[in-house]
Amino acid sequence: MANVYEDMTTEALDAEIEHLQKQADEIRAQNVSLDMARGKPSAEQTALARPMLDLLTSETKLEDGAAIVDNYGTPDGLPSARALAAQILGVEPANIVVSGSSSLNLMHDVVTHGFTNGVAGNKPWCQQGQVKWLCPAPGYDRHFTVTAHLGIKNIPVPMHEDGPDMDMVQRLVESDPSVKGIWCVPKYANPTGVTYSDEVVRRFASLKPAAPDFRIYWDNAYCVHGFGEKDDALLNVFDALADVGATDLVYEFGSTAKVTFPSSGIAFVTASASDMAEVRKAFGVSRVSPEKFSQLAHVLFLKDLDGVKAHMAKHAAIVAPRFALVEQKLTDGLADLGIAKWTHPHGGYFVSFDGPEGSARKIVALMSELGVKLTPAGATWPYGDDPHDTNIRIAPTYPSLEELGQALDIFVIAVRLVSARLARA
Ligand code: PLP
Repeated sequence: MANVYEDMTTEALDAEIEHLQKQADEIRAQNVSLDMARGKPSAEQTALARPMLDLLTSETKLEDGAAIVDNYGTPDGLPSARALAAQILGVEPANIVVSGSSSLNLMHDVVTHGFTNGVAGNKPWCQQGQVKWLCPAPGYDRHFTVTAHLGIKNIPVPMHEDGPDMDMVQRLVESDPSVKGIWCVPKYANPTGVTYSDEVVRRFASLKPAAPDFRIYWDNAYCVHGFGEKDDALLNVFDALADVGATDLVYEFGSTAKVTFPSSGIAFVTASASDMAEVRKAFGVSRVSPEKFSQLAHVLFLKDLDGVKAHMAKHAAIVAPRFALVEQKLTDGLADLGIAKWTHPHGGYFVSFDGPEGSARKIVALMSELGVKLTPAGATWPYGDDPHDTNIRIAPTYPSLEELGQALDIFVIAVRLVSARLARA
């Protein structure tokens, strides 16, 4: 659809800008203070896991089969916690390590191991000259920061509706031995909400990397975060690898950060048997054994995959109306103007919004002036550099429905005003 502002006469456009400007001035005078930046659960959601806190007392049996909870040991994590994590990811418990409370922390440690000590007996990346990493964008800024922090060159790869641009991924991975990894959020991706299609997962599994130390970093952070009826189905990447007889290609990560408590969940990693042997060795340098009280509490609380699903249904009941509100407000306010598009996820934490070229920074700045905080424009791209300056990440979970509605009404006015001004320029 054509941009209606570009089709207006100068007089009509000036009148529209004046009208929108007036609305913006009225909002400014109200001194609102709202936040649509935080990709974290609301207090109502974290309260769902509070009963977990009552499950560990001084009377609790601190054993897990043969494993002791209140002492060193079981460096791979409690057997029951590994079984739970394996069910969540749909893999064998034998290849799972449960450690710590943050999957990002595990990703950082695995990537850093490749950088300092090398993957699968290859030279450490720090001795291989400039190494590169593929970053489907828009994507998760903290992924990009992990690799950028090590001096690894982040290369953006366009995201489509079914996953990353696999022609580009395949060309780069199979032709350039300096490409060592790719960040993937395969289900309800941050921020697009896209779930990779079976075809995309199969193409990942079929990659023939030029570098023997290339791996796919499969961050399945939102694997159990559907809103309900329309939950997307993601093909299991390890099944896809088995189908083509491939191995040693994927590290998969997950956590219960957005199941129970962000920063106090349990985190896990899995890979092939030989890659996990290396990960265990690397982790053994910095960990005697993981924290296990939280692992025990999680198992007592969530029990198994059915328990996780039942708990996530409660999250969905809180979160789904917020996403429905985003869809409704954006549709009502913007759908007929030809100036914006946005994603319509069936799960996860974000909606990805694209305005006209050159608009994102201006919209975020105007929103800030009007009292609404958004994720900084560009944050969803490596080095904060959105080449067309269009993308804004909307995080609807944290504010109350009322606050969210207010923030979205202001957003619609900001998008219209910036778009109209751009059309006038
Ligand atoms: N991975 C993705 C894609 C995320 O969006 C987030 C948090 O927003 C994380 C990982 C962080 O997970 P954790 O708290 O387990 O480190």
